[in-house]
Amino acid sequence: MSSVEIRNVTKTFGRARALDDVSITFDDGAFFALLGPSGSGKTTLLRTIAGFSFPDSGTIRIGDRNVETTPVEKRDIGMMFQNYALFPNMSVADNIGFGLRVRRVSPSEEKRRIAEALDLVQLSDKAARMPHQLSGGQRQRVALARAIVTNPKVLLLDEPLSALDKTLRVDMQIELKRIQREIGITTIFVTHDQEEALILSDRIGILRDGKLVQVGHPRAVYDRPESAFAADFLGEANWLPEAALSGLALPQTTQASRFAVRPEALTLSAERPEGVNALPARLEQRVFSGAMATCIVTVEGQQWKLIARDRDLPDLPAQSPAWVSWTPADTITVPATAP
Ligand code: ATP
Repeated sequence: MSSVEIRNVTKTFGRARALDDVSITFDDGAFFALLGPSGSGKTTLLRTIAGFSFPDSGTIRIGDRNVETTPVEKRDIGMMFQNYALFPNMSVADNIGFGLRVRRVSPSEEKRRIAEALDLVQLSDKAARMPHQLSGGQRQRVALARAIVTNPKVLLLDEPLSALDKTLRVDMQIELKRIQREIGITTIFVTHDQEEALILSDRIGILRDGKLVQVGHPRAVYDRPESAFAADFLGEANWLPEAALSGLALPQTTQASRFAVRPEALTLSAERPEGVNALPARLEQRVFSGAMATCIVTVEGQQWKLIARDRDLPDLPAQSPAWVSWTPADTITVPATAP
């Protein structure tokens, strides 16, 4: 059974429709990332599940209870928000145990559960420290321990890693995934970082203007976006110009369609390759970034991006005529009517 389910949730602020008839089933124990451009409704959805905001219509079920009118403290959730600071005057252990004391858990039980949570986030030796004596990453771990120590049914995370620098962020992603798997908690995560969503989640949902436009396994959404919006939002897409379509092997469709290819699915060559889709192009620019290189090419007057291992690229000077090619199976197809 799913742990969390929202059905037909709508939330308006004045005339703005922050959520427009959104329905999502969050699978038990799975990591779900909510993605979308700024203002698409991600935070509103998370706040509505948490109970900081109440929907105009629709239902929210957590476990076996409908909670859309239940206040936040009775919803059985754990939260870790970017701006959800630790109590500065309490030790690490006291910060973690706060929710247990509110719930009047016995002192011995509290001690046991704090020790367990500290062990889980690998901070057992820092129990007596004050928050200001910790690094940014350690503080995030304490916040995570505090969020899960009460064994909530669902963990809600709003950009929890965005204040961390790149290296620490990657470490924390690995850590967060390990902990989430270890305790098997249903997790709903809001992020701006698409790569982070792809790394962490079992499923992603893409919001646009308060509407859910696609839900699925990250790879499925990346490989088979259902709209031009989803294709452009999750990763990058080179759209095939109308003038280039004839002569290419394209998926059979019954409706008017648009076709695209991901930058990493393209191959650059000096000669026209056989047995694949190929278009004449001009190499504009090649940017080396270590293992990989990015090429900007012009195809039928449009700028395309191609990403390949630097060592796999032909030795061509800028402005050279070239060919871009891809296997037909790598063609992305979306209905022309899907925005
Ligand atoms: P961001 O990525 O920028 O955080 P978001 O996807 O989380 O954006 P929300 O914060 O959920 O988007 O906002 C969705 C829409 O609802 C926006 O148009 C926003 O201006 C509006 N909105 C959100 N909260 C309120 C509020 N309290 N009062 C009025 N409008 C609001």
